[in-house]
Amino acid sequence: MLVEKLIKEHCLSKEEYIELLDNYTADTMEKLRVEADRLKRQYYGDKVFTRGLIEFTNYCKNNCYYCGIRLDNKNASRYRLTEEEILLSCKTGYDLGFRTFVLQGGEDPYFTDDRMVEIIKEIKSLYPDCALTLSIGERSHDTYKRFKEAGADRYLLRHETANEEHYNKLHPENLSLKSRMECLYDLKSLGFQVGAGFMVGSPYQTNETLAEDLVFLKELDPDMVGIGPFLPSHDTIFADCEKGSVEKTLLLLSIIRIILPKALIPATTALGTADPKGREKGLLAGANVVMPNLSPVTVRKKYSLYDDKICTGEEAAECQGCLTRRVASVGFQLVSERGDVYRD
Ligand code: SF4
Repeated sequence: MLVEKLIKEHCLSKEEYIELLDNYTADTMEKLRVEADRLKRQYYGDKVFTRGLIEFTNYCKNNCYYCGIRLDNKNASRYRLTEEEILLSCKTGYDLGFRTFVLQGGEDPYFTDDRMVEIIKEIKSLYPDCALTLSIGERSHDTYKRFKEAGADRYLLRHETANEEHYNKLHPENLSLKSRMECLYDLKSLGFQVGAGFMVGSPYQTNETLAEDLVFLKELDPDMVGIGPFLPSHDTIFADCEKGSVEKTLLLLSIIRIILPKALIPATTALGTADPKGREKGLLAGANVVMPNLSPVTVRKKYSLYDDKICTGEEAAECQGCLTRRVASVGFQLVSERGDVYRD
């Protein structure tokens, strides 16, 4: 009955989400998956959009407890790409057909607002037909405004958990859920296409905190939602924690597609790491984006948020070929488009 209600109303109460997550069965999952697939095709047909991910710095001033590149991890081998290397990655991607670039990095003080503005302007002037996404963490409203004015189109900032107590168990004291939420609403008010998201199965997560995530997502109404199973990094205090469940990630992907039918939802690398067919399963469960890596192969392994990350040894062209085949194997088509969010 809750499944039917979710399909009809595209939303449930917190208590109803908890009940759904507590009691789901294979049959529930399949019903939700079929509806998620129907909704995705209604807005995006059989298209899967591709984003060229450029992990341009693994320096970070923060200490998120789950993250392999957090400040206090002295074992991390640090790197920064030069502006030339970033632009070369864009060129490689453009020639392969990418029309969205994602600049992702830790919160690296070296990349000041001025430096970022210069890079954004350069990329947008060289590739005006491409969308530029930033994923560089929390900055002030004024900084986000400068990034937008320089030409950035989208911003990814996972909220990680919408439950404050849970947030505080995953992050040190200087980081707060309040500040993260403010950033997300700032980005939205500035006209960015905004992405939120969380890990499935992170330490201390419960069905109650997940239900709060779903309520929050409906309220924020982001254009993009990234979720993937929690995968431990051996260099963190959560090294011995269990991995997040692939099955539950797929269930949540379908639920999120139903809550936000037009959202752009990646089949994440974490899902592909947790299960060799994870990304294909993600596409079948409602995802419609893949994010292959355009960073130089020499630095790929160093952007190590979690252990055993896949696709760290292949050149961009190989990744693109592999993903084209994987996407086609489940009946979808990898397209060379900006892939903006569907608007009526
Ligand atoms: S999750 Fe992001 S902000 Fe936190 S330590 Fe890792 S790179 Fe830095």
